[in-house]
Amino acid sequence: MENAALAPQDIEPADLAHLERAIALAQAARDRGDHPFGAVLVTAEGVVVEAMNTVNTGHNPIGHAETNLVYDSGQQLEVAQLAGSTLFTSTEPCAMCTGAIYWAGIPRVVFALSEADLGAMVTEQSGVPTLALPSREVLAHGGRVVEVVGPVALPAATEVHLEFWD
Ligand SMILES: [Zn+2]
Repeated sequence: MENAALAPQDIEPADLAHLERAIALAQAARDRGDHPFGAVLVTAEGVVVEAMNTVNTGHNPIGHAETNLVYDSGQQLEVAQLAGSTLFTSTEPCAMCTGAIYWAGIPRVVFALSEADLGAMVTEQSGVPTLALPSREVLAHGGRVVEVVGPVALPAATEVHLEFWD
């Protein structure tokens, strides 16, 4: 069952700003030749770490924005900082990235476009299905609670994928 999309005004303005930044990073990733995904991690103290997809430019099949962000955040931050952080991402984390978020101890995720909506666009355009497993479903099997907020109805989150997956 898919959650209904939240309106942008239904989330905190600070959360919305970070989400819009994640979408801007997705566009930047696309512009440089990577898949259109971006993500931002923000700690309780306001430390910000950003990452983009690097599947093409990094020749890394698992170089998703969130996996890259979890890795970079782990290198730069303390475990306690991760435990108080929120990860914002332009599109709902895939099953692999959701696993990475879980293992990092990140307690909160906010995403714009849903995996289901992405999956519909990708399959229609390329014929190749996504890994159709909602992040909430992955996290429901975990031993710690991870709050998931989304989808958030931001047109830019859809637009960044348009005509990319042909
Ligand atoms: Zn992923």
